[in-house]
Amino acid sequence: MQNILITGGAGYIGSHICLKLQENGYRPVVFDNLSNGHRDAVSPDVPFIHADIRDSAALNKAFDDFKPAAVIHMAALIEAGASMVEPARFYEVNTAGALNLLEAMRHNGCKHIVFSSTAAVYGNRDEGLLSETLEVRAENPYGRSKAMVETMLRDYADIYGFHAIALRYFNAAGADPEGRTGERHDPETHLIPLILQTASGQRDHIKIFGTDYDTPDGTCIRDYIHVDDLASAHVKALAHVIASENAAFDAVNIGTGEGCSVKEIIELCKEITGQDFGVIEDARRPGDPAKLVANPAKAQDMFGWWADYPSPRQIIAHAWAYHQKNMAKTR
Ligand code: UDP
Repeated sequence: MQNILITGGAGYIGSHICLKLQENGYRPVVFDNLSNGHRDAVSPDVPFIHADIRDSAALNKAFDDFKPAAVIHMAALIEAGASMVEPARFYEVNTAGALNLLEAMRHNGCKHIVFSSTAAVYGNRDEGLLSETLEVRAENPYGRSKAMVETMLRDYADIYGFHAIALRYFNAAGADPEGRTGERHDPETHLIPLILQTASGQRDHIKIFGTDYDTPDGTCIRDYIHVDDLASAHVKALAHVIASENAAFDAVNIGTGEGCSVKEIIELCKEITGQDFGVIEDARRPGDPAKLVANPAKAQDMFGWWADYPSPRQIIAHAWAYHQKNMAKTR
């Protein structure tokens, strides 16, 4: 059985990927500093290294101890809004941290990597569906901190022979369809979990950040992707990079191709939860592009992935089921 080192494996998306790796015959080895992740999000039978990606000695020991066939690199700071206030932290953790990991991989002869990138690398565009052929033009330091890692991966592929795929996530949401794990950020900043907290009375109201965007209802449009589909995309991308010793770098969108506005998401949440709640129209959040919707064709062509749960209804229903079952944890 192949070991897969998964940095950030105790996080929201990482914990879903661990389940998916196990279901597909891989052995995940989690490397996580628990700055945002939760120890109990990872099954006790998964090896767990409590360490930081900026710690080279800990990384080298992990490569020595587990000889991973590949790395899934997820460990990162994720809030675009926070990156507009403290960009240095994002470059330090997301960019310098990734370089540290790539160096540990190089020194330990591990050249296969799947990297968590983001649709934020596209920034604000007028194009309809976003394709990977568009030039990168991130709007905020978060997006730029990830775009820089993509650039490094391209060089590590060209010059050091790495085989790397950067998955550009659109908006991850939802929870494991079987309810085993779900979203638990503290503090929570993402739209769907915040709405569900409001629906269950944990918050007074939900704020809409900006109603004057150039979109049909004036609120931002995003492509919401079920976390279970996102986890499957990692396993497929991983199999693809491991299968070939050829050096290559590819950036690949992981989205559904369908957009949904903030107002539409709020209405769907009201319908699915059966709850009415306060909605406040507020100012724009700095750094938010008006519309981010994927052209997901490349993922299908390259490694046969497409979304099994493309509907925001299913995403919200699974998130709501997890939220209700784990109210204390998701608070
Ligand atoms: N959003 C909002 N109110 C909130 C949180 C988010 O209106 O309390 C909006 C945000 O401005 C963006 C969309 O919801 O347009 C998705 O934001 P989220 O933070 O979930 O993900 P992002 O797109 O920033 O990765």
